[in-house]
Amino acid sequence: MNGSLKIGSIMGIPIKLHITFLLILPVFALVFATNPQPYGFADIGSITKSYALSLLTTILLFGCILLHELGHSYIAKGYGVEIKDITLLLFGGVSSMEEIPREPSKEFKMAFAGPLVSLIIGFGLVGLNIAAVAIMPVYEATYVYLMVGILASINIILGLFNLIPAFPMDGGRLLRAWLAKRMSYVKATHLAASFGKMFAFIMGVIGWFSNPWLILIAVFVFFSASEEDKSTTVTVSLEKYRVADVMTKDVISVEPEMIVEDFSHFMFENKHLGYPVMKGNSLKGIVTFTDIRNVLPHERYATLVSDVMTREVISLPSDASAAEAFKIMTVNNIGRVLVTDNDTVKGILSRTDLMRLLMLANE
Ligand code: ZN
Repeated sequence: MNGSLKIGSIMGIPIKLHITFLLILPVFALVFATNPQPYGFADIGSITKSYALSLLTTILLFGCILLHELGHSYIAKGYGVEIKDITLLLFGGVSSMEEIPREPSKEFKMAFAGPLVSLIIGFGLVGLNIAAVAIMPVYEATYVYLMVGILASINIILGLFNLIPAFPMDGGRLLRAWLAKRMSYVKATHLAASFGKMFAFIMGVIGWFSNPWLILIAVFVFFSASEEDKSTTVTVSLEKYRVADVMTKDVISVEPEMIVEDFSHFMFENKHLGYPVMKGNSLKGIVTFTDIRNVLPHERYATLVSDVMTREVISLPSDASAAEAFKIMTVNNIGRVLVTDNDTVKGILSRTDLMRLLMLANE
């Protein structure tokens, strides 16, 4: 995620702080410092102490949120899912995973692990406070008791809140997993996302009358639900096809020595927007409309295709799935990929080919 700072790594997973997290940290500290007991430290006598304790509580709270994310990651890692990083941001934590397993029972356990960690921490801290008071009654009057109490309630609220079936929140993922056992994955996602949007709407209305924070979360839930619904539909539909079935097989290539002016006419005649650049049988690069767009008119006669082409060609084997091709194009923000088997160009696949396939598949 852009604007993130790596602070370390746990279980081999890089832990990052997002810029929005650094903004929210003082806000949380301020909330604790201005609220009276048992929700904050405003009335403990010393302003300095109250702010110091508030900041400490905030940091510990985000430590708990990190543990929640690590709960998800721990289960995911057990299923062989690669976790790129965990980022702490405005709303809490986000684990970016390679791909969430599409098996309902696995997704169920993965989604449940986070809230479970929060609830264990929450009830564990409640137990700790009760036990400590029983042994040493004076403990009840200490700042530690107050702080542990605050952390306990927030963790319990966090655990329960995340269980609300508002996809893509944890509870929504549990719902999708439950539905996916009964219907297709795409249908289950669509239904869970509709539920998520409905909850987001309700959350937004409640937020309007009570807490602006809820409105923010509602907007986030609403848009992520739509986004994930769409991307799941696309991925699942494309998975059934192999690159070899949809690619353009008669690849028209150009030579690296071609002049850009000639190439632009060539492109116009052949109607494709990207071509592999070949010298004999060896692939030198790929040249697209975007590459020549920035060449000034008077330089078009003096510039060669090899001067503007992209040398690092992103390619896929012909037995890869169309979903994989879509992912590569999206991640790298490119319009086409070359299909190569053992360094031999077999075809070319464009975003337009995939869109056409999707339209046909949905018919
Ligand atoms: Zn979670």
